Amino acid sequence: MAMNAAETTNYFLRRAFELIGMGRRYEVLLMTPSRELRVELPIPMDDGSIGNFIGYRVQHDNSRGPFKGGLRYHHEVNTDEVRSLASLMTWKTALVGVPFGGAKGGIECDPRTMSSGELERLTRRFVDAIGDLIGPHTDIPAPDVNTNAQIMAWFFDQYSRRHGFQPAVVTGKPVELHGSLGRGAATGRGCMFAIRECLRTDGASLEGARFVVQGFGNVGSWFARLTHERGGKILAVSDVSGGIFKGDGLDIPALQRHVAETGSVVEFPGSEPISNADLLTHECDVLVPAALGHVLNAENAGEVRAKYVLEGANGPCTAEASDILDQRGVVTIPDIFANAGGVTVSYFEWTQNLQNFRWTEDKVNEELEKTMVGAYRGIREVMSRYKCSMRTAAFVRAVEAVKTATDMRGLQ
Ligand code: NAD
Repeated sequence: MAMNAAETTNYFLRRAFELIGMGRRYEVLLMTPSRELRVELPIPMDDGSIGNFIGYRVQHDNSRGPFKGGLRYHHEVNTDEVRSLASLMTWKTALVGVPFGGAKGGIECDPRTMSSGELERLTRRFVDAIGDLIGPHTDIPAPDVNTNAQIMAWFFDQYSRRHGFQPAVVTGKPVELHGSLGRGAATGRGCMFAIRECLRTDGASLEGARFVVQGFGNVGSWFARLTHERGGKILAVSDVSGGIFKGDGLDIPALQRHVAETGSVVEFPGSEPISNADLLTHECDVLVPAALGHVLNAENAGEVRAKYVLEGANGPCTAEASDILDQRGVVTIPDIFANAGGVTVSYFEWTQNLQNFRWTEDKVNEELEKTMVGAYRGIREVMSRYKCSMRTAAFVRAVEAVKTATDMRGLQ
């Protein structure tokens, strides 16, 4: 039977543990979440009824700094998924060296069927429910699937009503309300730096390289736009409503205007339709899953016709898919590195909030680039030390950093 999301993350972690000879004691310590919270969120709906939703926050590890991780609003949010995503955050923050631990949260709901007023009430209720366990030096949420700067603004406002002015309690806020310049684009920009470095190592470049992108939300659309600006050809993209394809590359700025007008990529003039399933196995240089988890699995990983899989999404490969890709020589650029640009600029936002000082967008982007390139060099060093995959190398670096912090702090 296929592993669930949390088991998959632990499967990848175990590989790293085995390689560096970590004992069983650490295995338990570093895999077990510190705290798992599940809350009931009753709110009045627009039609006069009461809606009852379930919210989650899993705080995985804080040995290196306050818990940090996004909030997802989706009908499939559950404990297993949030647990896996929280663990990934611990390794991601450690890998890129930002002074945070790992957490994740979410609400099981379908935001597409909810009004803005209902989403606001739900968000405020959630803040009240978890408010005692979060804070600028305790646990700092951020946007993820189906959450955005507006939701972060409500979050900040609700928390501040009880605790005083606290913009650093959440990142990914609107730029007009203590958000950071460059945060919106950060995850996609970080993905672009990640693949640029990999291509460079292999004697290639973004220019002329062919990309297929699943998901055209925050991560997918920024990645597509920034890569297109650098001469990359985006052959196909998709969203929850379907996919589109154009053999000589899509005009991404025009596609973004189409999405702003219609709400979806489908029926973009001059493109052909393609299903999400076919898109994942379309021939290209770089396949970029940037939507949801476990989209590459034992059934389709053997059919992937890309040289690289760039994990814009968290956990897009099952354990089986990851092994199949490795065996077939497809290079996987793992989530904990590929999409770490978001939490990196969240860190910059948090520091700006604590200092009440604003950085320029150029400064944010330069520091982000330095962080991504530095992390890439660290991963390559481990790859040559252990002759292992990029995923295992990324986990090794992250685990070493968390183990050191855990040891230094002691367990008393
Ligand atoms: P988003 O809500 O902005 O966009 C999600 C996109 O995926 C949308 O285009 C949606 O239509 C599409 N989608 C949803 N279901 C789909 C399906 N079944 N098939 C195809 N497309 C589908 O979310 P996002 O913030 O871009 O996050 C995407 C992924 O990136 C998630 O895995 C998230 O955890 C990860 N991530 C996000 C950030 C961030 O800063 N936002 C940071 C790191 C990782």
